[in-house]
Amino acid sequence: MERKNVYNFAAGPSTMPQSVLEKAAAELLNYHGSGMSVMEMSHRSAAFQEIFDKAKNTFRELMKVPDSHEILLLQGGATLQFAAVAMNLLAGGEADYAVTGRFSGRAAEEAKKYGTVHIAFDSSSTGHDRIPKQEELRLTDGAKYFYYCANNTIYGTEWQYVPETVSPLVCDMSSDILTRRVDFSRYALVYAGAQKNMAPAGLTVVIVRKDLAGHELPFTPEMMSYDAMIRSDSMLNTPPCWCIYMLSLVLDWVKESGGVEAMHERALARSALLYDVLDESRLFIPHAQKDSRSLMNVTFSTGRKELDAEFVAGAAARGLVSVKGHKSTGGMRASLYNAMPLEGAAKLADYMREFEAEHV
Ligand SMILES: *Cc1c(COP(=O)(O)O)cnc(C)c1O
Repeated sequence: MERKNVYNFAAGPSTMPQSVLEKAAAELLNYHGSGMSVMEMSHRSAAFQEIFDKAKNTFRELMKVPDSHEILLLQGGATLQFAAVAMNLLAGGEADYAVTGRFSGRAAEEAKKYGTVHIAFDSSSTGHDRIPKQEELRLTDGAKYFYYCANNTIYGTEWQYVPETVSPLVCDMSSDILTRRVDFSRYALVYAGAQKNMAPAGLTVVIVRKDLAGHELPFTPEMMSYDAMIRSDSMLNTPPCWCIYMLSLVLDWVKESGGVEAMHERALARSALLYDVLDESRLFIPHAQKDSRSLMNVTFSTGRKELDAEFVAGAAARGLVSVKGHKSTGGMRASLYNAMPLEGAAKLADYMREFEAEHV
């Protein structure tokens, strides 16, 4: 099947903009007349430094990151940040964690090794089907930060508001970065693994308030010290050069496409196509409660394993691939990141309607 006939709904690594892949392919063997690929370049070369600076500058411009915050381009995935956040910012103190899914749960467990963790909310008893209301959050006086995960990739729930807290916020935005405006003045730190909305796997973007760095636990590995990474401009060692190059192309694409506001509008339109089907359906059961729905990951099932499997196989036969849900939730999950064309979501919505007509 040709690429143009496939829509990839994978949760991450996930679909990339077609024009970005074409540009990368065109530049693959000979980047800007250098006679070599970006993959082959020294990370200390002028050509790579230019790519690196452009990626950072475009990210800062698109997301309006203030000068008070540094942008780091790191390795280790979002998961390494579970520990890095706690080693650097918790460092023996207390922090509040909202557990609204698997990743925030693992972040809280990891943080317990490095300080005192208070669980501000935990939605596990209802299968992480919702985001708490502000008044449900149990907040600790003197907490160093309040931690949450903006979009729960596995369960398909997303915070619709920014929590009001006295302590600064720390947020895992791995699966909804670059899809909405963020007021960084409220945040101690934001991080995101690249493989959902930004670039291939292997890169993590960390935006950290500079004045909070430099207070890490003494045994913090140098590679996990925000202070060391700020001082070396993320080049304490070889950075993930190819991923950073791909990030710069994706950021250019976001900019040309109208920036994060346009990305947000598109995300609303794409997800509405699927939620409209779910709201009318007598077959499909949505996982997330209505007021907690994610614009990025739409989760649903028929309530019957065999029928779910039939749906997933039928979708794949039409080129609508990777709609199988996460193993912990079962059912289906359609991930609708920035690079998913509206047409892909429309085709999936059509298939859902047809499948329902055949099975109800
Ligand atoms: C995918 C994901 C992670 C884990 O990312 P890795 O890069 O695999 O470590 C963490 N948090 C969220 C919200 C995710 O979507």
